[in-house]
Amino acid sequence: MSRIVYVNGDYLPEDEAKVSIFDRGFLMADGVYEVTTIIDGKLIDFDGHFQRLERSLGELDIENPLPREDWLEVHRQLVAQNDVEQGMIYLQVTRGAPGDRDFVFPDPETTTPTVVLFSQSNPALVDSPKAQQGIKVVTIDDIRWGRRDIKTVQLLYPSMGKMMAIKQGADDAWMVQDGAVTEGTSNNAYIIKDGRIITRALSNDILHGITRAAVLRFAREAQMPVEERSFTVEEAKAADEAFVTSASAFVMPVVEIDGTTLGNGAPGPLALRLREIYIEESRKSAI
Ligand code: PMP
Repeated sequence: MSRIVYVNGDYLPEDEAKVSIFDRGFLMADGVYEVTTIIDGKLIDFDGHFQRLERSLGELDIENPLPREDWLEVHRQLVAQNDVEQGMIYLQVTRGAPGDRDFVFPDPETTTPTVVLFSQSNPALVDSPKAQQGIKVVTIDDIRWGRRDIKTVQLLYPSMGKMMAIKQGADDAWMVQDGAVTEGTSNNAYIIKDGRIITRALSNDILHGITRAAVLRFAREAQMPVEERSFTVEEAKAADEAFVTSASAFVMPVVEIDGTTLGNGAPGPLALRLREIYIEESRKSAI
């Protein structure tokens, strides 16, 4: 069965969906995206992702093309039409397709944003074998631009970072700026020392993870102390536990950093507990 996707108001089989070669998303990475996870056929933290989408669009002076209710309806339609039990909905909005390539933004009166959404199924999301094992990370320089708080589709360096990690036999990379970890290639990074959860504070240096916000809230509710501050690679290697968070990885334990094993090399108990709480609470509030 061909997947049904959404393009600019239409639901179409994926091989009939088309976007212009003049689209600024294609030519200039001039667009933003969101990824919302589906569990039990329901959307996790839809409103968090919607609010961040509005903020990303606002920072780039792109008008939000749809009201919240319409975004929700498209998400739900794609879940239903593609029969997604576990997986995600990917959403992308670009500045649209003016007739010519130009660095100057096109007039929004004549060039409207391009809107694309599609689903991906992943039946192993909740019972992830990786989460039982934990992942290995390597550190790389963070050479991305200075507005990482905007969720743009410029993902070349994170993608290269992931490949650098895989070439070294690891699963992912943590990016480092001035000796301190910023975040993972597609996730927020945390360490745990003496029961305290440490993660970089929000700024333009990192993406403001929707999963991060939820996990820190659950941690505080469970009386786990949280410190939002920078940490160094040395500090991370000496930590008791580490983990990453993202919409699709939930809470994923990290068991090795640059070849240094954390604890006994198995996922830490607090990371696993947070994963459990996150999945349980997200299931309860899914829409
Ligand atoms: N940081 C980066 C660089 C990311 O790409 C992502 C996921 N897109 C995250 C953090 C995690 O964000 P979220 O929890 O909203 O998925």
